[in-house]
Amino acid sequence: QATIEVNGLRKRFGRTMALDGMSFTVSPGQVTGFVGPNGAGKSTTMRVILGLDAADEGHALVGGRPYTSLRTPLSHVGALLDAGALQPGRTARNHLLWLAHSQGLHGRRVDEVLELVGMSSAARRRAGGFSLGMRQRIGIAAALLGDPPVLMLDEPVNGLDPEGIVWMRGLLRSLADEGRAVLVSSHLMSELEDTADHLVVVGRGRVIADTGVAELITTA
Ligand code: ADP
Ligand code: ADP
Repeated sequence: QATIEVNGLRKRFGRTMALDGMSFTVSPGQVTGFVGPNGAGKSTTMRVILGLDAADEGHALVGGRPYTSLRTPLSHVGALLDAGALQPGRTARNHLLWLAHSQGLHGRRVDEVLELVGMSSAARRRAGGFSLGMRQRIGIAAALLGDPPVLMLDEPVNGLDPEGIVWMRGLLRSLADEGRAVLVSSHLMSELEDTADHLVVVGRGRVIADTGVAELITTA
């Protein structure tokens, strides 16, 4: 059964057709790579799934329901959309505590997710001095706060150093192996081909290929 279901989304920004019949599903236990050039509609699709943008047509469901109908969204879907969205004056830990409390989650979970993303030692530093890679890690920590069965990460590898990229691949793998549905976007196929089980390749607001990675591997 599909955990994320995107069906016939259309979305126009002025003259730009950002989504032009976007349809695909994301299954539990898999890393689904969402690949396509900049401007293909990946972020907009994720924003529509999260109810941050309204589609002109079509619908998106998470666990069979619209995201906006979920009463404790963080425990259903973890999302990393914009790693710049940390308040510079706040420490990483306070940022996460604030998020956790706003969703009725236990503060203890904050230290667990900081550990999970390798940020325990920076937990009490202000986010203003963080590198993009560190902000990405905090964004992932935030996405994991509610221990959600669904994760959506928009270009999570951006700003990570080579070591961070290897770490991220391992994290995505283990999250999927725990049974979660993981949707991860990139404009680079090479970032996802080793990690993803399934690829949804998009261009100009629609899907141009939807395939298991195993089916892509041919024997000479
Ligand atoms: P991707 O994530 O694949 O890079 P986006 O979803 O960000 O693609 O963008 C798809 C298209 O929609 C692009 O042409 C982008 O400029 C446009 N777009 C996205 N958001 C907006 C917005 N808020 N206003 C106007 N145009 C937008
Ligand atoms: P990404 O690179 O992850 O696709 P963008 O940098 O394209 O993200 O977009 C960041 C934010 O700016 C999003 O909220 C998006 O909706 C908005 N946006 C993107 N393109 C445009 C645009 N042409 N005009 C106005 N807002 C845009």
